Amino acid sequence: MSTLQPVRGTHDLLPAEMRRHRHVTETARAVAERYGYLLMATPIFEFTEVFKRTLGEATDIVTKEMYTFEMREGESITLRPENTASVCRAYMSNGLQQELPLKFFYAGPMFRHERPQKGRQRQFHQIGVELFGVPEPAGDVEIIACGQRILAELGLADRITLELNTLGDPESRKAYRAALVDYFGQHLKDLSADSRERLERNPLRILDSKDAGDRKVVAGAPSFADYLTPAAADFFAAVKAGLEELGIGYQLNPRLVRGLDYYCHTAFEFTTEHLGAQGTVMGGGRYDYLVETMGGPATAGVGWAAGVERLAMMLLAEPPAPRPFALVPIGPAAEAAAPKLAEALRAAGLAVDLGFSGKVAKRMKRADKLGAPAAILIGDDELAAGEATVKDLASGQQQRVALAALAAHLRALPPPA
Ligand code: ATP
Ligand code: MG
Repeated sequence: MSTLQPVRGTHDLLPAEMRRHRHVTETARAVAERYGYLLMATPIFEFTEVFKRTLGEATDIVTKEMYTFEMREGESITLRPENTASVCRAYMSNGLQQELPLKFFYAGPMFRHERPQKGRQRQFHQIGVELFGVPEPAGDVEIIACGQRILAELGLADRITLELNTLGDPESRKAYRAALVDYFGQHLKDLSADSRERLERNPLRILDSKDAGDRKVVAGAPSFADYLTPAAADFFAAVKAGLEELGIGYQLNPRLVRGLDYYCHTAFEFTTEHLGAQGTVMGGGRYDYLVETMGGPATAGVGWAAGVERLAMMLLAEPPAPRPFALVPIGPAAEAAAPKLAEALRAAGLAVDLGFSGKVAKRMKRADKLGAPAAILIGDDELAAGEATVKDLASGQQQRVALAALAAHLRALPPPA
């Protein structure tokens, strides 16, 4: 281990990478606001119970992936592996039951101790939305439409597929669960050790096992569709009709599950073939029983979360970098005067980079590298005259401008190509 390396599964976000991230989160936030989902944030750690109770003791996240610490006071806290449970906790802590329906958008880091690979990190970032207090299928349709629009505005629309399934209501789920236990019980010897373990605790989870042997068994498993109550079937039909009404295409995937008990009705994922094995960029569904599970009042909920790293990897165009003007002083007197001039231009709202040291040629090179639209040269001559030389770095043309008029002049320059 070298303490000069980032911890396995974590990454620095240097400016170019950070711009991609920010483009994803900013685009998402702006689109979410158009749907009325407002940015909020919860702490990055919570009492362990918040996740343990909600995610269920039988899930991979709780059994293997949580970063849990004992505090000096003896309390157990956990770095959030996902944000839905935290948002539900915040909904209860802040007594927001009277304000339904509530629409939240969030963005931030999550932590899971899993095997790092492309598109899978131990600290990663998610954006997500949660809608509370809307039990109608229109809520499911709205959050999917919002997710779809975010992906479209990121330029990803033609490289993603919406996969859709239903997990029914508790009654349907109970019947389906029993059918699965029965079916998988007959194929025990062909299941992986992991899946055999899941059989009693969480048989639905076997459906999305990635093990090749499991997948063969899963191919013959009963379908949820055959166990839906009429009410659950109606709900699913309404979600599908709502999506069709909005022109949102989807593919039914009866194997798509979110294995947690508090999920019901809609489950969906936006997937891509452009990211190798880590092909899910966004996943979500309805969780009408979650708040109750946490000890709160019965509150309908539906939402999704998306991986920022995976979305950032899919961007085709680099988000543009800022292009500051380069202030290049020539000689000691100009050098001394430069910080004040830079400050005045920044106060006037302009971006100005001051390279601090080095010969003029080196500073001009830095100006080019930053993509500066123009360099502001000041030498003894200019200082004496109360002027600056503005050099257009695209055309090479130079012009003397009075310092008093400099900010207005720079602002009026045509934007760089
Ligand atoms: P996967 O099947 O890829 O493990 P998941 O079901 O664990 O995903 P969710 O908990 O639904 O994922 O999280 C929503 C999204 O967050 C995922 O679709 C993915 O884009 C992203 N995500 C989840 N875990 C990671 C991770 N370890 N590194 C990077 N992104 C992740
Ligand atoms: Mg996972």
